[in-house]
Amino acid sequence: MESCELKIILVTVSGMHQWGINWPYISGGGLKHNYQLVQFHIHWSQMNENGSEHTINGKHYPAEIHLLHIKAGQSMNDSLHQKDGIAVVSLLLNIGFNPTPLSSLDGALRTMLLRFNKGRPATIHAFRPHSLLPLNTESFYRYEGSLTTPGCEESVIWTILSEPVSMTNIQLAQLRGTRLSVGSEIKDNTRPIQPLNGRSVLFNSSKKHSFNFCDPANPLVKAFGQKFCQFK
Ligand SMILES: [Zn+2]
Repeated sequence: MESCELKIILVTVSGMHQWGINWPYISGGGLKHNYQLVQFHIHWSQMNENGSEHTINGKHYPAEIHLLHIKAGQSMNDSLHQKDGIAVVSLLLNIGFNPTPLSSLDGALRTMLLRFNKGRPATIHAFRPHSLLPLNTESFYRYEGSLTTPGCEESVIWTILSEPVSMTNIQLAQLRGTRLSVGSEIKDNTRPIQPLNGRSVLFNSSKKHSFNFCDPANPLVKAFGQKFCQFK
């Protein structure tokens, strides 16, 4: 049986469902439906060699963002119980000199780091998910699998964009210093690498199957530390 246990404390950003007609969604990229963005969250660890949940050619990245979408018009609960109910777009984060992709999160992360904030949510204004994406969204890996957080439902179409997104050392240090509240440090929150168990991983590098990330101008979202129940 695959491991689906404990951890797991994440920095999560949500609130997009309140944007009404501006609710961001994805289509294309080989998906048979439109999927609406419900939240995104970040995985990392304290070491550069071991922060992402996916590896490419055996290589980990220091961190990874999961943009979690559900099938348009459905509830989260419905989507969890369908094989193609959820579409997660994964962004691999690499240390670089360009702070722009994650810059919209900087203020929220700084607020969450403040000792007196005690894990309260931080508001992000004028946020656009598109700002997180790499230039190339045509090259990606695709497989069908499960959520990496409890209860690891087998309902996810995974898309891992092959071009990493730049994050600076300062931004990574902010992530690593995030605390839910004073004294509650998030050391790492990644699920160990799982065996493929016979799954195929496809690679797309064609414009024909490129994604449409629909992301109109929009208002604000909340970033917060989220603690999942632990179970064994
Ligand atoms: Zn995740």
